[in-house]
Amino acid sequence: MAAPRGKIYLVGAGPGDPDLLTVKAARVLRRCDVVLYDRLVGKEILDLIDPSANKLDVGKHEGEQHAIQENIFRLLLEHACAGKTVVRLKGGDPLVFGRGAEEWALAINSGIDVELIPGISSAIAVPGLAGIPLTFRNVSRSFVVITGRSGDNKEPDWSRYAGIDTIIILMGVKTRAAIASGLIAAGRNSHEPVAFVERGASLDERVIVSTLGEVAAGRVEVTGHAVFVVGEVVQIREMLLSLQGGGCP
Ligand code: SAH
Repeated sequence: MAAPRGKIYLVGAGPGDPDLLTVKAARVLRRCDVVLYDRLVGKEILDLIDPSANKLDVGKHEGEQHAIQENIFRLLLEHACAGKTVVRLKGGDPLVFGRGAEEWALAINSGIDVELIPGISSAIAVPGLAGIPLTFRNVSRSFVVITGRSGDNKEPDWSRYAGIDTIIILMGVKTRAAIASGLIAAGRNSHEPVAFVERGASLDERVIVSTLGEVAAGRVEVTGHAVFVVGEVVQIREMLLSLQGGGCP
């Protein structure tokens, strides 16, 4: 007789704070057999997992992405085909630069039941928690989320983003100077405000506010993983911080 098929849950862990995990994600973590988790998933969230579950760190490290992803595919199949309930736990949302859809396809191709549990993406929540809204009346009517990593080592076509009000860049800390130069060359103002929100949704959050020109000149230090925001909405944070507390009218 064929072994019973398990199930794969593709689960978003949110931006870091365990209170920002969905109720559904927490429920599945409490009753699963195996968890394959990424580097950005913090300890407090891992502590919610059923203590008897097998927790496997499959965090990606520089330069070995392909081999690691192949290994993740292999582990997902191995455990699910053995009848286990497997959680693939990723930072933020699994489908935002998370390769979740590839794992989804793998499950379907292998006849394994699969379910997506979306997470709160750092792209939206991390700027938000730092007081930077992605849209604001009369300031920003559009935003785009892009990766700072060039997949094929080709310089992205920055002109595609020149007219979008707010640009959110994930995985863009290392290449920040090249990104800023590219955006300026594509027509964005070098005085345009930018922010890096490091370690968002945690007690160690740090917000660095500067301008595109300063970043392009290599004068902005960023020490941790961060969401890089470009746009006038960065000034909304200053506005919120400058407000004086008042009473009810
Ligand atoms: N799927 C994730 C994004 C994966 S890409 C999501 O939806 O959030 C990883 C990048 O996300 C990091 O390089 C960084 O730019 C950003 N990131 C994720 N969590 C973050 C956090 N708590 N604080 C700051 N940046 C974060």
